[in-house]
Amino acid sequence: MTGMQIAIIGGGPAGLMAAEVLSLSGHRVTVYDAMPTVARKFLLAGKSGLNITHSEDYARFAGRFGPTSGRLRAALDAFTPEDVRTWAAGLGTETFTGSSGRVFPKAMKASPLLRAWLGRLEAQGVRILTRHRWSGFADDGFVFETPEGRVVVHCDAAMLALGGASYPRLGSDGGWIDWLRGKGIAIGDFQPANCGFDVAWSPLFSERFAGEPLKAVTATSEAGTFPGEFVISRHGIEGSLVYAHAARLRDRLAGDGEAALLVDLAPGRSAERLTRDLSRQDGKASLSNRLRKGAGIEGVKAALLRELAPPETLATPERLARRIKALPIPLLRPRPIAEAISSAGGIRWSDIDDAYMLKALPGLFVAGEMIDWEAPTGGYLLTACFATGRAAARGLERWLQR
Ligand SMILES: Cc1cc2nc3c(=O)[nH]c(=O)nc-3n(C[C@H](O)[C@H](O)[C@H](O)COP(=O)(O)OP(=O)(O)OC[C@H]3O[C@@H](n4cnc5c(N)ncnc54)[C@H](O)[C@@H]3O)c2cc1C
Repeated sequence: MTGMQIAIIGGGPAGLMAAEVLSLSGHRVTVYDAMPTVARKFLLAGKSGLNITHSEDYARFAGRFGPTSGRLRAALDAFTPEDVRTWAAGLGTETFTGSSGRVFPKAMKASPLLRAWLGRLEAQGVRILTRHRWSGFADDGFVFETPEGRVVVHCDAAMLALGGASYPRLGSDGGWIDWLRGKGIAIGDFQPANCGFDVAWSPLFSERFAGEPLKAVTATSEAGTFPGEFVISRHGIEGSLVYAHAARLRDRLAGDGEAALLVDLAPGRSAERLTRDLSRQDGKASLSNRLRKGAGIEGVKAALLRELAPPETLATPERLARRIKALPIPLLRPRPIAEAISSAGGIRWSDIDDAYMLKALPGLFVAGEMIDWEAPTGGYLLTACFATGRAAARGLERWLQR
């Protein structure tokens, strides 16, 4: 052991990864977490299969973090998607690549991986103190609220890995923002990312179709045109295809007060072919029959057309075909951050040096989703949390050796 005491505050994927690196180097590492158990969001991610990373071409992967891709690049280069898979395999979790290129544990859950990981950390001497809520700075130390009362922890160096602000019930509630702002750290307000949106559905439509998936469609926004599926919810729309567009739609709503997701309900057929197929239908037949027989559109897809397209825009085969190919869903607002998969915003890169240390607070490092970056779903979030946890740990080690 080096005898150096390191406090890692926040026991999610970023904090645990930092604990792994630092304990392996012989430092005395204590992880503090506010909740009764660590990594609750990681476990919840496991409920939908735990998309741990992505298998696409690495240059493309590393560009998925928008304008912050450049700042994240060194951390990602040092812990690539392939490294994530090797690391998971080292903990007994073999992974596979799904048809979308996303990578999942074969067990499609997080608990076996987390159990093995916590076992390894314990074997490396990491102490995990749960029910320790960091509540600010005092006397050159970190104050924690614990079941036994208030304690102040002093250490040689520390890392914050407190997560973003989505799903606050799992622990990451952004409660730390004011304490860091009080120290002059610039923090962008948290906003929902990978989120659903509210739509002004008629009561009839939302009652009848909430929970129904729209499969095999494409959706377009400034983010691009992607194939996939999404779900009608009681309030609006959600699901992976919506999340892929969420950042651009959220920013457009914030800037202009309005935004729409453009949906192609029949991506396999051109507008010309649809027009021809619809023209062949009996003009006296009901719209439902013409849609079903002429365009293969029925159920929720047909209902969505009726819900959103004024009747005159469906009056001729040409117009109907045009609507089927480009149906705008007008959005009111993003769903609340408490429901979002992840959050945008957080500690500004301007206040973090290349070693992930806060420039204004030497010896205090940061990692994970609490930093100002965002990415779509697809395993990018967890990979970047692991990678920044490792990069910040390496930065902290270099700082201790300075
Ligand atoms: C439903 C859902 C599904 C998801 N699925 C995926 C997926 O399949 N693939 C993917 O890549 N990503 C997924 N994510 C996102 C991913 O889980 C997060 O990006 C990741 O967990 C963030 O890691 P983190 O370590 O930065 O923070 P977190 O995991 O949020 O951990 C932060 C920790 O800090 C603790 N903490 C917070 N404040 C304090 C305090 N004041 N004192 C002490 N401790 C504190 C919290 O209790 C928590 O344990 C999903 C998220 C959700 C909500």
